[in-house]
Amino acid sequence: MDLLAPDNFADLSIHGIKELILKHNYGITSYVDIKNNKSHVILLLSKRSDNIYVNLLSSYKTDLVLNNIDKSKVLQWLPYQARLKNIIKILTNQTFEKILKNNLTDYFVEYLRLKEDELTLELVKRANNLAKIFSDESLYAMCYYNHHLSKQIDKDESIYNNKLICQICGGKCCLDSSCDYLVSDIKEFSVPYIRSLLDQGLASIKGVFYKDEDEKINILLILKAPNIKSGKIDLVSIDSKCSHLSDKGCTLSYENRPGFARHLIPSNLFKCYNDLDMDLENKKWASYQNILEEVIYLETGRTLEEELSREVEIFFCDVLKENFEGITPNSIKGAKILFKYLRNFYQDEYLKTLEIVTPKHILERKN
Ligand code: SF4
Ligand code: SF4
Repeated sequence: MDLLAPDNFADLSIHGIKELILKHNYGITSYVDIKNNKSHVILLLSKRSDNIYVNLLSSYKTDLVLNNIDKSKVLQWLPYQARLKNIIKILTNQTFEKILKNNLTDYFVEYLRLKEDELTLELVKRANNLAKIFSDESLYAMCYYNHHLSKQIDKDESIYNNKLICQICGGKCCLDSSCDYLVSDIKEFSVPYIRSLLDQGLASIKGVFYKDEDEKINILLILKAPNIKSGKIDLVSIDSKCSHLSDKGCTLSYENRPGFARHLIPSNLFKCYNDLDMDLENKKWASYQNILEEVIYLETGRTLEEELSREVEIFFCDVLKENFEGITPNSIKGAKILFKYLRNFYQDEYLKTLEIVTPKHILERKN
């Protein structure tokens, strides 16, 4: 794309610009400069190859080209901004702001549809910078894209497995905690087989808390990938980094990852999206509670109730003592929310913890 400075045009009056657009295949586009988390949009004229007179940022390809051009040429267009905005209104009957909003949304939708081999580091960084500033438009595009994806039946693996996006993100979700297995991931539901998964460090037993119809707390046992701080039985604890996470990402092959990971769609705009109905998936574990309870007994020598009571106490203790070393801010936030929720139901454990964790302990931690 050739960028022309204003002195290439003989007549840049309103009439002259209209003539260039209507009769000589010119269009109005924009250069979006981002500095210190602020954007500056500069309108300019460029040759167009279609019938769209005003196309501010709807193509990621054009945007990238523009982002790398000689800025001094762009800045020469500054005195013509009011005039170009006026012409946009005359030609489209819409304001510059409205068109920019629509074009930005189109840009994000087009960008989100790109596959891994069409992305480059430069493009992802640029899109993320734009998304931070134009958050409404990127969110709108995300909702649109997610809705479109949820309707798609045969998604190919590349939608779920986008190494470039996860590499740039640095594995935030896996740093927060590990992912859950789906019932369909488990080849065999027998006590020896589940114990072998635990022994190999492939799984640990986790509790999902929910309220039953009588408003009483209940726990559903499921399997997840182990966290670095959790043991084989991890009914409740502060979430920590997944034990399968390495510097190069997940050490498990895509096919061997827990179902939750295989259904997580890494978003180009870092708002990752899971296309599973987790309530439905969790309910499927109901048929295997006895097996998991037996495993807990064999591993710990305690019944589910005894083990749960013990772990709830440790969890309360950890939160009160702020044992947050190596824990991400997201997980700390989650632990504090869970703490407030559980202390309403596990009063005995809470009172016991308060006796152990004296204010002195808390003060020591704070100093
Ligand atoms: S799935 Fe999302 S949060 Fe997790 S590593 Fe990939 S981009 Fe980051
Ligand atoms: S199993 Fe892999 S994808 Fe899942 S949390 Fe661990 S490192 Fe991440």
